[in-house]
Amino acid sequence: MAGILDGKAALVTGGGSGIGRATAIAMAREGARVAVSDLSKDGIEETVALVNAAGGQSIAIQGDVTDEAAVANMVARTVSAFGRIDCAFNNAGVAGRSVGPPGQRIHELTQPTVAKMFSVNLMGVFLCLKYEIAQMLKQGGGGAIVNTASIAGLIGLATSAHYVATKHGVVGLTKSAAVEYAQDGIRVNCVNPGYIKTPMTKETMDERYDEIMAKVPVRRLGVPEEIAEAVVWMCSDKASFMTGASHVVDGGYTAA
Ligand code: NAP
Repeated sequence: MAGILDGKAALVTGGGSGIGRATAIAMAREGARVAVSDLSKDGIEETVALVNAAGGQSIAIQGDVTDEAAVANMVARTVSAFGRIDCAFNNAGVAGRSVGPPGQRIHELTQPTVAKMFSVNLMGVFLCLKYEIAQMLKQGGGGAIVNTASIAGLIGLATSAHYVATKHGVVGLTKSAAVEYAQDGIRVNCVNPGYIKTPMTKETMDERYDEIMAKVPVRRLGVPEEIAEAVVWMCSDKASFMTGASHVVDGGYTAA
């Protein structure tokens, strides 16, 4: 049966773990050739092995999304392997615990902590958009980009102001890119996951599972595959009229 991404070439950042890995696998299942990028060499090699073992075609590109030259290289290497980029999933990100002590309110956050958060979650998405869009304009024929925002891109969360600010920023970048490049056939959307079972949420869930689940109408964590399916669809031509959207996949969290 034909896949909904047949013939397309895709780039996934944060592809060595969690949501990015599940999405790389789902994209390949739907027929895309996938360039998998991440900080961690082991993570991307594992994802590439999983994709290729399932009959897909993928390559690993190690790189830091905060480094402009590395982002330019991710795009260049994808094009040199697959000839073009039709879809991109700008998903690499960090949570509060990766950049500083957890549980801090605004008056306790330090500038280096906040700067690190902004650099990965916001500047990283900006740099990816810049180089992916430049390539899509150069090759012609449009494209589809999905950025990973969060429910934190739509609501406030206590002790996560820096994370929330970056994810609201991702929603804004997504809307502006959608408006700027609609004329070129490039669609740009974001996915807004709720709480998903990945390495990023492990410690928080170990400590606060019951408190958080009390706010989730479906009363469970999502799994990365449930985000991947939404991203694959947004990258496909089936979503041809969708651009500038924030697509919430959160078990009802923001509806409650
Ligand atoms: P994850 O399993 O930790 O995956 C995130 C990946 O991004 C990791 O492999 C990480 O590498 C990589 N990364 C971090 N900094 C990077 C950098 N500077 N350059 C390149 N790669 C970098 O977490 P996840 O839950 O799948 O998160 C994926 C995205 O979903 C993030 O943007 C996150 O904010 C968002 N999100 C997650 C949830 C959730 O509940 N899990 C909810 C809403 C939104 P290292 O591990 O080597 O640092």
